[in-house]
Amino acid sequence: MRTAIRDAWIVTQDADRSIVRGDVVIDGDVIVSVGGSGVEADREIQAGGDIVMPGLVNTHCHAAMSVMKGSVDDLNFPQFLENVFRIDSDRNDADLDAGARLGLLEMIRGGTTTFVDLYYSQDVIAKAVEESGVRGILCWAVLDEEFTTQSGNPMDNCRRFCESHSSMRKVVPGVGLQGVYVCGPETWEEASSYSIESGRVMTFHLSETRGEVNEHQRKTGMRPGDWLGSMGVLHPGCLAAHSAWLTLNEVRALGRAGMSVSTCPVSNMKLATGGVAPIPEMMEHGVNVSIGTDGSATNNSVDMFAEMKTLGLLQKSSRWDATVTPAQSLLDMATIGGAKAAGMGGRTGSIEKGKLADLIVLDGKAPNLRPLLPQNMVSNIVYSGNALNVKTVMCQGDLLMHDREVLSMDEAQVLSKAEDAWLKLCSR
Ligand SMILES: [Zn+2]
Repeated sequence: MRTAIRDAWIVTQDADRSIVRGDVVIDGDVIVSVGGSGVEADREIQAGGDIVMPGLVNTHCHAAMSVMKGSVDDLNFPQFLENVFRIDSDRNDADLDAGARLGLLEMIRGGTTTFVDLYYSQDVIAKAVEESGVRGILCWAVLDEEFTTQSGNPMDNCRRFCESHSSMRKVVPGVGLQGVYVCGPETWEEASSYSIESGRVMTFHLSETRGEVNEHQRKTGMRPGDWLGSMGVLHPGCLAAHSAWLTLNEVRALGRAGMSVSTCPVSNMKLATGGVAPIPEMMEHGVNVSIGTDGSATNNSVDMFAEMKTLGLLQKSSRWDATVTPAQSLLDMATIGGAKAAGMGGRTGSIEKGKLADLIVLDGKAPNLRPLLPQNMVSNIVYSGNALNVKTVMCQGDLLMHDREVLSMDEAQVLSKAEDAWLKLCSR
């Protein structure tokens, strides 16, 4: 099947960051032509004056928590954790499925085509992901056996999940680690070796709070980033979420490892954990920076447009320097940077011939995006755009939403389960 999206402004995010006017042609899974016109197609999408850009990549998420919105707000971190753990321990497969589907629906409407998820029971979430058509890098949460509520050894569970889900169309399995506070050296070494030998992404929470850093330093004499660096478990397939309380020395260790970070500005600010991720230093020292929303208990959405803008504002405001994290860098983090962090750098994140057709169409008639010219387009996407501007979403050639109608999910059914799930889990 050949699809042509006609006469759009194409924000390619290619090496030159070119913006061109013309058609994008998709054949099957992949993009076959960018910026030309007149190529015949089986399916036509008229996008005269609309923006076509790469689908957004959310690199830190717990999609199944989407039904927990507004249940644990306005609490400081220890009280927040206590409440979340209580709710989470009560969840069954049907609750996880309802939560994942709600999160996926919100992602489609907000223009996200790939996300990295860190959770247990990824086999349940995988079914929802595959049906939704959004690509999920599903990383099974591993922690020391003494801390887990999973039945069996978490690393064995992770391995089993990865091996049994390695040939799905939209599910890409990966390795997750909860964090240094529940994962000892052996768990890190085992997870890291498996991640390297299997070529899978390894994602983990790192230095989200000052308390976590202090506690680790008390136990080991080292800060978490230095400790992981000294064990040799960091590698280019690693993706560290938060990374808010890092020293320059730790940033250099992450850079030397050639790894990625997923910064989560809204979650960090909402939980008032204080640290601001040293993004300019990460960029300077070769860390690949991407953006994550974190779960909906701490954000409370999976809106990557809001996340891009908030990240820019936070960095500028905290540095007293409006030149840090310019609009183009923020868009890079949410597209090509995210693709690299998700282990898919050569395959998605930009609109180029041969890449997977992961793209979204934004409404060029929306007043918040006008005046719209090539000169201000990136700035408008980052600082003026929002999720409601997304009209059409395609992931790997599959049309998930067209002209604001969601095609891959039964929207009414997904929404109807949301309140029931919330009341069951959160109202006690
Ligand atoms: Zn998280």
